[in-house]
Amino acid sequence: KGTLYLVPTPIGNLGDMSSRAISTLQDVDLIAAEDTRNTQKLLNHFEITTKQISFHEYNTNERIPQLIKKLQMGVDIAQVSDAGMPSISDPGSELVEACVNAQIRVVPIPGPNAALTALIASSLCPQPFLFYGFLSRKNTERRQELEELSAQRVSLIFYEAPHRLVKTLKSLSEILGAKRRIVLCRELTKRYEEFLRGTIAEAYEWANSSEIKGEFVLIVEGNPEPQQAQSQAILPLEEQVELLLK
Ligand code: SAM
Repeated sequence: KGTLYLVPTPIGNLGDMSSRAISTLQDVDLIAAEDTRNTQKLLNHFEITTKQISFHEYNTNERIPQLIKKLQMGVDIAQVSDAGMPSISDPGSELVEACVNAQIRVVPIPGPNAALTALIASSLCPQPFLFYGFLSRKNTERRQELEELSAQRVSLIFYEAPHRLVKTLKSLSEILGAKRRIVLCRELTKRYEEFLRGTIAEAYEWANSSEIKGEFVLIVEGNPEPQQAQSQAILPLEEQVELLLK
C-alpha cells in the first residue's frame, strides 16, 4: 500500500517551506492539490516535477474513492492545500478519515499554520485556546455561534476574509462585548506583517475607518467573567423573570 503525506505549504513566505516538505513533494508519485495552478507555482519555485491531481471541497466526494484506490495500489500521495496546513479550514480531513478506515498509513509533516503563528505573537494567553476557523457568513448563524462561544474562558482564534472583517468585528463587539481584548494579526510572514492590539471596540473603529487589505487571524481574549455570559443575561428582563418562574 502507498502512504498519504499531509504537507503544509507557506502562508506567505516561501522561506517557510521545510526541506522535508520539499523532498516529500519531490519523492511522492502524485500531489493532490486544492488548486493545481497555485501549487504549480510552488513546485516550479522548488523545481519539483511531481504530477498533480485536483482535490478540493467541490470534488471531495468523487475524488476520495479514486485516491484511496491509487493508495491501495501502492501509489504514494501528498496532499496540499493552497496555504498552510491541509485540513485546517481547508480540504483534507475526509481524505484522512477514509485512509484511516482503509488502513492506509497517514504521515503528517509539521509546518506553517496561520492560527498558531498568530497565537504565539498575540500576547494573549496561548493555552488553553479554541480554534474556531471561519464563523458563518450568515448573520443569524454567526450570532448564534458567537453566543455559544461567549462564555468560553479560553483564547478564541478566528480566520476571516478581509471583506467581512468589519461585520465580524461588529458581531464580536455586540455579543462578546466591546471591552474584550483582541489582536488582529495581519499578513503573517509577509512584508506588511502587522499586529493590531486593543479592545474589540478599538479594532472595530480601526477596521471601519481603514481600507482593509490582506489576510487576518483574530485572537480574542477568553471571557474573564464567564458567569455573566449566560444567554439569560442578554434576554430582556421580562423573559429572564419568566425563565426563573418556570
Ligand atoms: N490551512 C491554512 C492554515 O493552516 O492556516 C488556513 C487556510 S484558510 C482557507 C485561509 C485563512 O487563513 C485566511 O482567510 C486568513 O484568515 C488565514 N491566513 C492564511 N494566511 C495568513 C497570513 N499570512 N496572515 C494572516 N492570516 C492568514
